[in-house]
Amino acid sequence: MTWLAHIALVPALAGLAAASCAGMSDDCSSNPSPLRQFNPLNFHADTCNLKWTHGCTVLDPHGGLQQKPPPFSLCDALHRPAGLLPIDAYSLALQPNDFAPGSPPFTLHGLWPGSAGGSGGKNQPFGCLYGEEFDEEAILGNLGGLLSHFWPTNAKYNNTMQCFILSEWMKHGTCAVVPGADGTAFRLPQEAYFRTAFVLTAEFNANEALREQLRDLEPLVSTRCVQCAYLATVGWTGTDVASVPRMSADCIDQCFACGDHWDTCAPAQLDSTVLLDPGNAPLKKRSDSSSSENASFLFPLLEYAMPALASSDYMSPWQGTWRSFGAEQLGSGKFEFAQTFIDDVLTVTTDSPYPQTCIYERRGPGELVLRCGAGANHHLEDCLVQRLPDIGRLEVAFLACNHTGAPTPASFYAAMDTSGCGNFLMFRCKASATGCAFSPEGVSAAGSTASEPETETETMSNSEPSPVSHSQPGVAGAPPALLGSWRSIQVSSHYQEGLARWNFTADGQASLQWPNYPGRGVQRYSVSHSDDDASLVLLAGASGTVITCRFQFQYEPVYSYAVLDCGADQETTQWAMGRCNPCSAHCRYSCGPENYFCGAGSCDPANSAQAAAASAGALPSPPRHAHTAHAPKDGGHDWCTPQDSHCWPTKTAIRKLEQALDPAVPRLGLRWSSYPQPQPAPVPTGSINNQSFYGLGDAPAGLRALPAAGAGAWNRASDMCKAALHQNEYRDWNPFIVVFPLNERHVAAALTFAARHRLCIATAGTGHEYNSRNSCPTGGLLIRTILLKDKSFLPTWGEDPALAPAGAFRFGAGAVFAEMHAFSAEHDRAVASGWCSTVGMVGFHLGGGHGPFAPSMGLGVDNVLEIEVLQLGRDDAYGQPVVHKKTASRRRNPQLFWAMLGGGGGVWGVVLSMTIRAHAVPSGGLSHVLVPQGGTFCPDPASPYGYQWLRAMWPRFAAWQLTLNHKVSTQPGFFINTTQYATGGLCAVTWQFNIEYFYAGGQSEPNYLLFRDRLLHDVLQAPATTTAQERNFASAYEYVLSMPPDKFLLAVTNPLPGPPSDSATGSQNSVLVSRQAMEARFASTMMDVLDICVASLASPDPTSPDPSGHRCGFHYLYTSLTGNLGSARPGDTAISPGFRSALMLWNARTLTTRQAMDTVYRLGPNSYFSESSYVMHNWTDRYWGRKGYEQLLAVKRAHDPGNYFWCHHCVGDDPDDAYGEPLGAAAGFVGEGDELQSQLRVG
Ligand SMILES: Cc1cc2nc3c(=O)[nH]c(=O)nc-3n(C[C@H](O)[C@H](O)[C@H](O)COP(=O)(O)OP(=O)(O)OC[C@H]3O[C@@H](n4cnc5c(N)ncnc54)[C@H](O)[C@@H]3O)c2cc1C
Repeated sequence: MTWLAHIALVPALAGLAAASCAGMSDDCSSNPSPLRQFNPLNFHADTCNLKWTHGCTVLDPHGGLQQKPPPFSLCDALHRPAGLLPIDAYSLALQPNDFAPGSPPFTLHGLWPGSAGGSGGKNQPFGCLYGEEFDEEAILGNLGGLLSHFWPTNAKYNNTMQCFILSEWMKHGTCAVVPGADGTAFRLPQEAYFRTAFVLTAEFNANEALREQLRDLEPLVSTRCVQCAYLATVGWTGTDVASVPRMSADCIDQCFACGDHWDTCAPAQLDSTVLLDPGNAPLKKRSDSSSSENASFLFPLLEYAMPALASSDYMSPWQGTWRSFGAEQLGSGKFEFAQTFIDDVLTVTTDSPYPQTCIYERRGPGELVLRCGAGANHHLEDCLVQRLPDIGRLEVAFLACNHTGAPTPASFYAAMDTSGCGNFLMFRCKASATGCAFSPEGVSAAGSTASEPETETETMSNSEPSPVSHSQPGVAGAPPALLGSWRSIQVSSHYQEGLARWNFTADGQASLQWPNYPGRGVQRYSVSHSDDDASLVLLAGASGTVITCRFQFQYEPVYSYAVLDCGADQETTQWAMGRCNPCSAHCRYSCGPENYFCGAGSCDPANSAQAAAASAGALPSPPRHAHTAHAPKDGGHDWCTPQDSHCWPTKTAIRKLEQALDPAVPRLGLRWSSYPQPQPAPVPTGSINNQSFYGLGDAPAGLRALPAAGAGAWNRASDMCKAALHQNEYRDWNPFIVVFPLNERHVAAALTFAARHRLCIATAGTGHEYNSRNSCPTGGLLIRTILLKDKSFLPTWGEDPALAPAGAFRFGAGAVFAEMHAFSAEHDRAVASGWCSTVGMVGFHLGGGHGPFAPSMGLGVDNVLEIEVLQLGRDDAYGQPVVHKKTASRRRNPQLFWAMLGGGGGVWGVVLSMTIRAHAVPSGGLSHVLVPQGGTFCPDPASPYGYQWLRAMWPRFAAWQLTLNHKVSTQPGFFINTTQYATGGLCAVTWQFNIEYFYAGGQSEPNYLLFRDRLLHDVLQAPATTTAQERNFASAYEYVLSMPPDKFLLAVTNPLPGPPSDSATGSQNSVLVSRQAMEARFASTMMDVLDICVASLASPDPTSPDPSGHRCGFHYLYTSLTGNLGSARPGDTAISPGFRSALMLWNARTLTTRQAMDTVYRLGPNSYFSESSYVMHNWTDRYWGRKGYEQLLAVKRAHDPGNYFWCHHCVGDDPDDAYGEPLGAAAGFVGEGDELQSQLRVG
């Protein structure tokens, strides 16, 4: 089951549980688990608990024996049988064995699954729905010897083995669910459960390194680890201790993938109700989809698309011999290594001058660090070896060594970007790949006796050999992904020499040569490929012989690799190939003569038509003058400033741009005529005629800058520039030119213009970005896409219909939620939007996107299917900017797609459109609840809803939040009003808590009633007469229509008093709160925040934006994420782990950065990019985590090689700059460009 199918299943399951357990507030008498009834020993239907009745005892505190208490509840927190078991990891209970001589030093008990979103590490999981009769006879009969060895019972407990294994099975085994094949869940059968536990116990006892990692006796191990242990049992039927299989080293690596935190585990979110269908079982090995008979041109699934994300399920051990070649342009000329991993030692046997023996240590799944520094004659020092996705019949790894004494490169990407780092691709045949064999090791360069190839060869001295010409079936020329020059190793069952170089040109020619054997000359072919299958490549030699090859390709952001499998049956010759991507500015050595696409520039092989055209001679006219678009300094900015007349646009250039943007077509007039028309754009408060463009309005006067915004905030830029952002620019960084494109051509024109003049490029749609990140410090160019309003409904999502069972919507980048809701209602569908109808689709989805339907339908990022984007590639060979249009989806440009699912806005190019999933409107509609509660800060405990009551409410509120399931999405707003404090003291300070939420379903559903009543009675302790305001809507748009027309007019204010510092107020200090933090620390943190407020009443803080100096403000406490019980949490997005699993997003206002660091930030390591503070330390960690950021940066560099796109605290900005000073503190450029700005009317 894919994760999307899983999402679809969640409501169905919840519905089932609710239906079966209706009215079940006090018992589980209608428990729908008939199988339990077959287990009379244990199940007590009237209490929801298992009880042991069969000789099961424990020690009481006085050393006596007592009946074992019920081990765990079979019902969830709502007292109904749990239907869905969220599993992020497993716990192992390890006990030192001092009571059973002959048994291992540690005995393992338990092995129970749990989750960050569930009850956590030390607790038992909720019961699993389906127990079944426990076949103790079979278990004891088959496994008795193993049980008494690995799980000896302690005599002092006086328990029988029968009780013990029953207890283990019922308590843990029934919930032991692991990922199966194809994302399905699989519950271990009884015997498999015990065998899996034996494997783990044996491994833990045998492996000291593993034991050392255990800091406590109940460590977290990943579900992958349990799966691995299970896989080791497949086929193991032995019953003696010696027969217990060991786990592979890679499996052991995976065991600690979660570290100590549930939050960092990849959530498996498994469905514990799956039946014991052996068809669901994990496979022993990853299916070899690339065996020659079905070696189709597969794009990797996203999950496998990035090295560090690569799922290493079933990864084979490192041990064995790998063959490799250097990724370097010229290399050493000889880079054939035979690399042998044995135990903890890597022997590098090579005919290069650097034979080495290195020790290696593991660093996470699929990664090794080599230490090769020993001995005088060492060349390799610290190296990284990382597994890459398999390709064809080959396993692939990447080796990068620092020759400079620098530490090991942090990653594949970092290595590619580090000078002095030697990079190698390593290949070997999969064990399962029959007929795949590498050439013998150690091919000698000197004295080759290999016979000269016959007809197709020309000697190297033939500098201009004539091309081979043939008419072959299919499309002339190689498929785009194959174009270019490849370093290759021959993999063959028929021995030939190893290292070679393939070259495929756009005019349909291919050549093959061996750098180590110049005497062999060059083999030449003409190339074509199949019409309907681009992976089928035909090579015709000069003699007319046609060889059929299969081409498979793995794209990585900086370096790609491929396999070319040529011939048939016994005659098959396979080539493992690798090359720097043509566009990659950061792939070292990529711009050598060997890669003549370099500079022509597409990062994406699917878009390399331009490169092909360039190589075929169809170059654009050479520039008339030396080109201006330099490559930026590495990692830095090389933006043009108004002072630099060499690059700054002339009036003529600007006029040309203006003409290219069809200036006669009216741009203004995006007016909002009020409901029921969908609001087309945010409308600033006070805008004339509800004109959306801030700063303009109807000619001639328009809406002018607000004087209230503060002196100097508005006096520099033209009105057009002010129209760019609805917020005032925090730093007074107005764009030099604002373009309002109406179509793709306009965007391309603007991008080309910006590249020619090296302008910093910022993008915006609605301008909802809270921090006004998107204005460049050097003025630059702003592309505002609010006018791109296309929309269409796609009943079927062609790329993968299963991903969008209810179809999809494609919206132009200017779409806002009001429009999207209106359109989706026309099609009886819903979209997983944000809360406000004015928010734009693009920024919402790029940032992550939470909203009223996220717990049931997924976050914004979970709903994106495809993104169309325009990017700037590297300049072409003639120095002209190259604009690429890219489509990113799970299959196309998967890294870019991954990065744009949560990697934040602004830096990936200009989005033209997004395709997002449509959802069926939940049965029963969308129910909305609002319960407003108010009170005061009166300290008297007797004061109704006074300060004491308020403080005591927070733990109750937290407890309520923890019970919410995936159907509920809340946005409680807590506001404090201190305006009357000066006259009335604390009793005049009031608070208002508006608890608002959506329930995805009808008002008669039991859970709807349950959540509402608990809120009223448990949290708010409301009198019986208090009611909630309840409404039900047939569509989200109906809800939007129900709002007062002025609800979403946007106030135009300067959000932040400057200058940015730790004592300045953050626009909003957001923190993503895990379930554990919610349970343990949320309430006390809220009280700390209230203390800050109260302290500021007595001692006002002059830096507060509140004129009275108070630090009270307001807070939004959203559970509109995917941390609710039963919410699906797919893993293949760029959002941080904390975002993925968070129950709550707390947006705290009016705190300084320092106060936030002392309070709310301590609740969790991550913040929400789109709702956060301008000033932030460690912002890369808080937004994405270290590794996530590193990967994002690599994608950004690959897709924006000129580093044109910039925004504050976006990917690519300075990670150490907390305050936003990309050019250093003094950036006074913009004002000097005013004269030019005032002349601009562009777009
Ligand atoms: C009133 C209000 C309510 C909000 N409610 C929610 C909510 O319920 N849930 C939630 O998750 N967030 C919410 N947010 C935050 C919101 O998601 C972000 O501010 C988001 O970035 C807005 O996107 P936008 O496109 O409307 O804004 P913009 O300011 O136009 O753009 C935001 C970001 O997206 C990029 N971007 C926009 N268009 C393009 C484009 N065509 N190509 C490339 N990049 C582009 C920009 O560069 C920028 O980085 C809210 C914000 C406001 C002001």
